Amino acid sequence: MYSKIKELELQALELEPDENRRKQLSGEVNEYVEDFYGRLSQGKAYNPAYGLAGEILNAEINEEPASMGPVLDEVREKVDSTGINTASGGHLGYIPGGGLYTSALGDYLAAVANRYAGVHYSSPGAVNLERRLIRWMADLVGYPGEAGGYLASGGSIANLTAIITAREATGLKSADFSESVVYLTDQTHHCIDRALRIAGMGECIQRKIEIDGRFRMKPAELEQAIQQDRQAGKKPWLVIGSAGTTDTGAVDPLRKQGEVARQNGLWFHVDAAYGGFFLLAEETAPLFDGIELSDSVVLDPHKGMFLPYGIGAVILKDEKLMAQAYTYEASYMQDVLDQQTVLSPADTSPELSKHFRGLRMWLPLMIHGVSAFRAALREKVWLTRYAHQKLAEMPGFEVGPEPDLSVVLFRLNPEGSDPDASTKRLHQLMLDDGRIYISSTRVAGQYMLRLAVLSVRTHISTVDLTLQLLQRYSRQAITS
Ligand SMILES: *Cc1c(COP(=O)(O)O)cnc(C)c1O
Repeated sequence: MYSKIKELELQALELEPDENRRKQLSGEVNEYVEDFYGRLSQGKAYNPAYGLAGEILNAEINEEPASMGPVLDEVREKVDSTGINTASGGHLGYIPGGGLYTSALGDYLAAVANRYAGVHYSSPGAVNLERRLIRWMADLVGYPGEAGGYLASGGSIANLTAIITAREATGLKSADFSESVVYLTDQTHHCIDRALRIAGMGECIQRKIEIDGRFRMKPAELEQAIQQDRQAGKKPWLVIGSAGTTDTGAVDPLRKQGEVARQNGLWFHVDAAYGGFFLLAEETAPLFDGIELSDSVVLDPHKGMFLPYGIGAVILKDEKLMAQAYTYEASYMQDVLDQQTVLSPADTSPELSKHFRGLRMWLPLMIHGVSAFRAALREKVWLTRYAHQKLAEMPGFEVGPEPDLSVVLFRLNPEGSDPDASTKRLHQLMLDDGRIYISSTRVAGQYMLRLAVLSVRTHISTVDLTLQLLQRYSRQAITS
């Protein structure tokens, strides 16, 4: 038996490269990284190449080891060069972020040490580091000392976590669901509807409150709807404020929403997944006035802090409520539960084993300092205002309202030509070109294009190139 085990150990050692081999492997990866960054400014922001990407589905997965070079070549060709290049500054679609290098290093370190960040007993340092980040974000939104939260994988899961906490904290039971009312707008992110359904609350009444000309909830209508629902015997439950809608970047009147929610005893949740970090920019911070009235808030560091995908924060004004919603017992965890002094992610979320997401945020914050983030966010605000102004001056173009944050809405509306059809053609010409990626949406039934300026690598040269391309292709789009 002994010799058999030794033989297997020898074979399994392939999984544990020694120092020389580690250096060689990381050297090859570093070369790939530098080549990737080198090509970023020249390359396309969009290259669908679905055929090429599809070849991965038939890739051989072999018994025998392979060398790094060809494996990375395949990643470069079939993964990193196909679809939307989300690392490119030319990515102006949806909500970009870019992905900070120092954050990638944080992930690398987290994976190497593989700290068990789910429970304080196991890795007090990792849990405290995440708690410190959550405290920093809680201070940003003006929450008191009892606040706490959880670093989820993204905004959707963070919103789900908040909604389940709200459900438990307000003591709603399934018999109440069909009478419970959620107040939102047609600009609310669809992940809220999804979260309600996943939380078993699909039967809730979703009351879409009217919006103003800048896509923001009208608070007087909110107040009225709550009164009407009360009179009709319904149970007003939850107000969703959007601090930066995905479509148009609009920030709801948070103070008024918060006051209405509070006066009526409703839970107030703010989805600031996209917009939240604009609290760091002096130009936009005043728009968030009243966010501290909320009971829970979501911010996505993989958007406004330019981190790579995989981190969304939910912050509760009262951390205990999260712990009550996610409490657990397990006999094999008795050592942990006995030692419990500090709330851990396992106590305040559905996760147990989890990625140590804190380090990917900690490292960039420490290495670059908050001022660099402020500057980058302010740059994005001014780039957006610049783009909005220039587009408004371009012949044949029509722009949406002054942007609150960093999204510009626009379309073609030339005389004697169908605006939807010409805008669609313009969009297609931009996609075919591929240097700049922009996405489209429908607002009040109209086909609109969006410029979302939030990649850390989007600068004035990118916006100027975008305007040039739009101007050039608009002629073709209008006449064809
Ligand atoms: C992006 C976004 C979400 C969803 O977040 P993910 O990180 O993509 O899961 C939710 N709400 C708003 C307002 C967003 O912009």
